[in-house]
Amino acid sequence: MIGTIDRETLLAHARMIASSGGKAVPDDAKELSDLEVCGAAEITAITRVAAERDGSVLVSSGGTTGIPKLTYLPHDMAFDRLLPVWRPLGIGDIVLNLYDAGRMWGTHYFVQKLAERSEATVIPSGPMTAEELEVRLPMLREVGVSALASVPSVLADFAEMVLKTGVTPPIKTIIWMGEAWTEAKRELVRRAFPEVQLWGIYGSVETWAMASNRPGCDESTFHVLSDEIIELDDAGALLTRAGDGWTVPVVRYRLGDRLTAAECSCGRGDALRVLGRADDGFGLLGNYVNVADIVASARECPDVVDAQLVLVRDPGLADSALSMTAEYTGTADPRAVRSWLTGSHVRLGTVDSQHPEAIRARRVDQLRRIARTNKTPAAVWEDALGDESQRS
Ligand SMILES: [Zn+2]
Repeated sequence: MIGTIDRETLLAHARMIASSGGKAVPDDAKELSDLEVCGAAEITAITRVAAERDGSVLVSSGGTTGIPKLTYLPHDMAFDRLLPVWRPLGIGDIVLNLYDAGRMWGTHYFVQKLAERSEATVIPSGPMTAEELEVRLPMLREVGVSALASVPSVLADFAEMVLKTGVTPPIKTIIWMGEAWTEAKRELVRRAFPEVQLWGIYGSVETWAMASNRPGCDESTFHVLSDEIIELDDAGALLTRAGDGWTVPVVRYRLGDRLTAAECSCGRGDALRVLGRADDGFGLLGNYVNVADIVASARECPDVVDAQLVLVRDPGLADSALSMTAEYTGTADPRAVRSWLTGSHVRLGTVDSQHPEAIRARRVDQLRRIARTNKTPAAVWEDALGDESQRS
């Protein structure tokens, strides 16, 4: 368990949200574990009730492969909860908002609101192609862009263009959320902007910001906001919050991520690290394996920069693949990457001995991205016919 909320406060809070769309509280409930776990339906119900009173921004998550989950976001976006511990922008800053607008996604509007609350200037750019960025870099330097906001995949692309052209805007701050850094992406950003300070958020469209990361922190740890509790669970961690001012006040909401408690170099407590998606295991011809483990292993292979899995769906069996191709960037030889994977992972070794044709490695110029978010997914699922669907 990470974070603390006093027991009486917690139960009173649970009863309050039960009356506005949350799960009922059992009469004999004494502690957190006596309360029911809730899901996306409760988030939609609770935030919808609040929106009828104060208005909202209606956003969604998922929807790439499944039914979208709806959340009514209050217009204030809960910045009073966040800004006391996480304030990346100030007066005079100019932030380039590279998150895609529209499509019922939230991050673009998070950055717009952050700039407004920080009395900073914001450029609502959205994503740019490499050609557009090359043309606009001199303008961005000229206006004095001091902060960038995007997912690490896009920030690394930006850094690469800065290194290629030598046109360097005076960036001192990077705001990131939506996916984790890889060593290669972080290196690129550090080379382009050696003094830059990183400010990260761990959150989701449904829950908004849950934890934050600021200069002095390890880039893979986040500190839970006050009045929040995270229960660790391999089926997906559970989030509970008390008090006012959240985008949604939840009790035991099941997140899609596996988390672990962590120590952070900054010395502050209540830190967590994201291990991966709770649902990223899959069967490969009868052997159960985990996407995050295989991708992490591939990234450790000499001369591999980054990697993702392309999985061909088994039409007869849920969450199962007929074959797996590790696509990667870098200079490694495909045969070396393939034998690295089958040699470092027992179950892949088993698959290899029985169905060697089911495991491949392929060098690519760029990993596949999710069109809506520009994230680089760890796994891409394809039907045997070649249609692809992606998981963030
Ligand atoms: Zn820290």
